[in-house]
Amino acid sequence: MNQVWNYVNATSHKAARPFAGKGKRLSAFELDKLTAGATEFFDHIGSETIQRVNAEFATRRKQFKRTKLRWRVSQGAKRALGWIPFKAAQLKHKGKSLRFSGKAVRVFERELLERVTWKSGCFAQDAVGDWWLCLPVAREVQHGVAPKEVVGIDLGLKDTAATSDGDKLHAGHFYRSIEHKIAAAQRRGHKRQAKRLHRFAARRRKDALHKFSTRIVSDYQTIRIGDVSSLKLAKTRMGKSVFDAGWGMLKAQLQYKGQQAGRCVLIVSEKDTTRTCNDCKALTGPRGLAMLVVRTWVCSACGVTHDRDVNSARNIRSAGSLPPSVSGNESSPTVAEPSLT
Ligand SMILES: [Zn+2]
Repeated sequence: MNQVWNYVNATSHKAARPFAGKGKRLSAFELDKLTAGATEFFDHIGSETIQRVNAEFATRRKQFKRTKLRWRVSQGAKRALGWIPFKAAQLKHKGKSLRFSGKAVRVFERELLERVTWKSGCFAQDAVGDWWLCLPVAREVQHGVAPKEVVGIDLGLKDTAATSDGDKLHAGHFYRSIEHKIAAAQRRGHKRQAKRLHRFAARRRKDALHKFSTRIVSDYQTIRIGDVSSLKLAKTRMGKSVFDAGWGMLKAQLQYKGQQAGRCVLIVSEKDTTRTCNDCKALTGPRGLAMLVVRTWVCSACGVTHDRDVNSARNIRSAGSLPPSVSGNESSPTVAEPSLT
């Protein structure tokens, strides 16, 4: 896979930036023609697999808007994780196992694959070194009506998210709670064990995020999310904490799950949402990076005690329905375009 990828990478770069004349962006189809016949040099892996590599390359190149992508390195610390894509027809049921490229593949939880038609998928290796079979399958979308109307979600630093109904998600502590174990494993030179622990924490975090986003989508018809750009904040000194919180992942989950369930998911401007008191609309709340430590505050105008994140989530929920005169002149909350992050 790495050889094919790197060949395609080099070739399409050369075609895009020739010594003379106009550059040309090779499509996946053209790359297929250039790699035709290569399969016999690769243990007969199958031209379909090579074509899938080409297709993936073309997609990524478009996504990152570059003529050249990173090389797939086979050795050393920067080694690319194993990846073997295939088309649907290449993987077949055979008795108790699956058959791929002349080899029998036994999988755990085989019963999940019974009576299932898959599309093109891949075998992929994770950082620990275990191989996984990834098969996208079609599922029917079920559109129902959620029991509750609107929710505002504040994506925060300390708690990953807080809702306007006071529901909170704590997902940032999974790494920290086993940090000492990871450090101990690394000290003893147990690299694989350290990687396992990393995977364990990552899975727990992902699980928490999935449970939270599923709950929100099944409960609410309209979901409003503050438009924090994780990229923007990652550039500040809070970077590590931001990545720990997994905003991007949660936002993406809410968007695709919401879409599947027929919900209205809106990205709302977050301007002044932490500062505005949800009860009297006065700008009395804490502001600035230095004030992030403030978790609860009392409004000096009306005397109501606020949980910082819940108050801000409530402002996000009501954003757009706020009268402009109250929220200030230029800061009237507008619906922002969903960002790529
Ligand atoms: Zn107030």
